Amino acid sequence: MHEDIERVLITRSMIQRRIAQLATVIANRYKDGLVVVPIMSGSIIFVADLIRQLPMKLRVDLISVFSYNVTKNHKPMLHKDIGTQLKDKDVLIVDDILDTGDTLKFVKERLSLCCPASLGTCVLLNKTEQFSDFSGFFVEKDDFVVGYGLDYDGYYRNLPYIAVLKKELQDAVH
Ligand code: 5GP
Ligand code: MG
Repeated sequence: MHEDIERVLITRSMIQRRIAQLATVIANRYKDGLVVVPIMSGSIIFVADLIRQLPMKLRVDLISVFSYNVTKNHKPMLHKDIGTQLKDKDVLIVDDILDTGDTLKFVKERLSLCCPASLGTCVLLNKTEQFSDFSGFFVEKDDFVVGYGLDYDGYYRNLPYIAVLKKELQDAVH
């Protein structure tokens, strides 16, 4: 176990099982194709596993947003925009974790300007029970989680499971 980690919250096999379930539901909803828009960088591992379970013809186009900072005073800011035409396409935004909802709201507003046929959201973790069309797991608001794409200070994205950061470090990010 790494020095900053308090405990494992969601194991690798739990994540894989849940992704298979989500993929089944998403595949039923979007039979005729899809543009998947992952929000960088937290969703990289999740989206890589998710799209490999999706059978339909799909494209992936990344968007990058600065959304989280130590003081939490900033609003989300666009860092890298998408390059694909979304007009009349079914679009699914994918993010690692939904907290206040500011990030997803920002990206949804941005992409809705491109006039997609539909605009859905899929998050691996949901902290607040804010609305997302697809959510993997609900987690405690007070736990700062890392692993499986989620970072602390840029680290721990490579952990194959979701873990809770030690409380003394959590105080620094909240
Ligand atoms: P929101 O805009 O919904 O408040 O925050 C979403 C973003 O905040 C996520 O994309 C993620 O980058 C970051 N975030 C929120 N909670 C956590 C957490 O517990 N751990 C990590 N690593 N990032 C988080
Ligand atoms: Mg993020």
